[in-house]
Amino acid sequence: MSCASKKYLSLMNKVLDQEATEQEERILYEHLANCVECRAHFDELKYSTDLLCRLAHPQLPAGFTKSVLAQLPPEKRHAIRRWGSRHPVLAAMAICAVPMSLVIVGARRQTMQSRDKNGYVLVKVSGDQT
Ligand SMILES: [Zn+2]
Repeated sequence: MSCASKKYLSLMNKVLDQEATEQEERILYEHLANCVECRAHFDELKYSTDLLCRLAHPQLPAGFTKSVLAQLPPEKRHAIRRWGSRHPVLAAMAICAVPMSLVIVGARRQTMQSRDKNGYVLVKVSGDQT
């Protein structure tokens, strides 16, 4: 493409992507009417775009989606949800187990830090000066 202006190449892409304004489309088509090279390039781009559009949306046989879905293994997410609805108390306990274990570990860590070197727990009681 030896046309001096790259402006038309950009316009071609905008028109093919359906992002050009009416004025931009008019400017491009006026140029294409007079420039053989750009018209040939635009036709090639349009042909390529049409091919890509056909590739992006292939025609599948009827029932294709249904047959693929039938071959997929059942989702584990549904199995967990079903188990949770059958055993609500256990599900609630399982959900609470994580934060409760964090609280227990945190409390134990805090207790471990307040022990002296003999293993005695140091407790500060306010007002006891004896
Ligand atoms: Zn041109």
